[in-house]
Amino acid sequence: MSLTSQAQPTIFVIFGGTGDLNARKLAPALYNLFLEGWLPEQFAIIGTGRTALSDDDFRGRILDGINQFSRSGKANAESWKPFAEHVVYQAADVKDAAAYQQFDKRIKAYQQEWGTPVNVIYYLAVAPEFFPIIAENIAHNGLAADPERTRIVIEKPFGHDLESSRELNQLLARNFSEQQIYRIDHYLGKETVQNIMAFRFANALFEPLWNRNYIEHVQISVTEQLGVGERSGYYDGAGALRDMIQNHLLQLLCLVAMEPPINFTADDVRNRKVDVLRAMRRFSPEDVRESTVRGQYGSGWIEGQQVPGYREEPGANPTSNAETFAAVKFFVDNWRWQGVPFYLRTGKRLHRSSSVITIQFKDVPHCIFPPETAENWQQNRLIISIQPEMSIRLQVQAKRPGLDLMLNTVDMVFDYKGTYTTEAPEAYETLLLDTMLGDQTLFMRGDQVEAAWDLIMPILNAWQGRTSQSFPNYSADSWGPELAEALIARDGYHWFTLPLNNGKK
Ligand code: NAP
Repeated sequence: MSLTSQAQPTIFVIFGGTGDLNARKLAPALYNLFLEGWLPEQFAIIGTGRTALSDDDFRGRILDGINQFSRSGKANAESWKPFAEHVVYQAADVKDAAAYQQFDKRIKAYQQEWGTPVNVIYYLAVAPEFFPIIAENIAHNGLAADPERTRIVIEKPFGHDLESSRELNQLLARNFSEQQIYRIDHYLGKETVQNIMAFRFANALFEPLWNRNYIEHVQISVTEQLGVGERSGYYDGAGALRDMIQNHLLQLLCLVAMEPPINFTADDVRNRKVDVLRAMRRFSPEDVRESTVRGQYGSGWIEGQQVPGYREEPGANPTSNAETFAAVKFFVDNWRWQGVPFYLRTGKRLHRSSSVITIQFKDVPHCIFPPETAENWQQNRLIISIQPEMSIRLQVQAKRPGLDLMLNTVDMVFDYKGTYTTEAPEAYETLLLDTMLGDQTLFMRGDQVEAAWDLIMPILNAWQGRTSQSFPNYSADSWGPELAEALIARDGYHWFTLPLNNGKK
């Protein structure tokens, strides 16, 4: 996202270096940045965790992660060796204050060796319970004294509710300035998500239509085919509303609904997003009943394999009240969007994995064509597909070729793969590079996170206060509970799904 590409000498200290996120995302992202020449010549990666490992053991783990998960495939010896020379490991318990003096020593040693001041990025890839202790230990040991050169990256989830997110923000604010804090929402690093702003604000065509006069409703649908698997310990305390809607889906909504920023700077972009969250209609208990649906998956068959229901997943609570599906109808109460519903849905064990934003325009004011010519009539739609297909489609009516007059819907398609030959970077590559460059545009500001929590708290409280008697209420491989269909059908619409290339739903 950044406009400049000159990263300063940088040290990454990765807390949770032995964990899954580092193996799966961070190490492959850093390696790809290295391969493509985005890392400065002078950089170091200090991994840390409690596990006792030598530098070489740690490098071996990272190499396994890269070989398994990197978009560029397995590392080859020629590029791996020079990269690995920048990687070291230090075993430490994050609660042990003395360990931070060791980090300090290493950082100063690099600084001396390189003969230049360095930027230091502390990446907290650990469970959220450790965010406060690590942040305090970094600050109290003087490791973040220079606000220009030190940054702290906080993984998701940022808080568990409004109160805990406020507490974490306050703790961070006591120890860091906001310009040092990078709150990750990896969705914002996705190429297709970044393109929403380019699409909206680099084209004159859409802005005049982008309002309540032309847009009838908006859908944001992020569906997953996978179940919770081994993660029910974490998921039971979270649920779909916290895990997906509070962050990823609301961020997508902000990108669709925001006013044009004055310029492309982090603060201005984030100001416009906060405006959207602040304008969103708050839920009364009655609104929660009428405008939200929760679900939990039961067992079923996916691609010929029987899969367990949520309550039968390994280690799951057999009476769990956690929702694995959530659908919510939101309104943005401002001049641009008054009366336009935004339907958001997300869930696990659904028929297919996809993330799609659908903007449905109003119908033509008067149809001049006889009804029999327009059997397949459909209002114009703009479909922004984030994954797995990366595309933007504008659906319009057209005359079918032939001597008779028949109308049907055709797609004008911008497809990333067909248009560009270069492969899109992974979200974490973009976000790590932006952290190095000090660009916070794609990161959540403290007030943004709190505004999103504030919005969903009435729904969370209502759902937690009332155990669902109907769970499980959808089977694996479906599109979620029937009530979610009813939620949107009551307004005369249905959930849109992008057909697969082979035409299958
Ligand atoms: P994980 O695989 O369980 O790793 C946890 C890490 O924390 C390990 O490296 C562990 O190292 C370290 N750790 C635990 N207790 C410690 C202590 N007292 N002192 C020092 N290190 C300690 O977790 P993860 O999946 O990587 O997730 C990490 C964070 O990223 C979480 O906040 C998660 O929500 C977020 N996240 C993960 C993913 C993903 O794909 N995995 C995606 C999005 C967000 P030792 O065992 O060696 O001590």
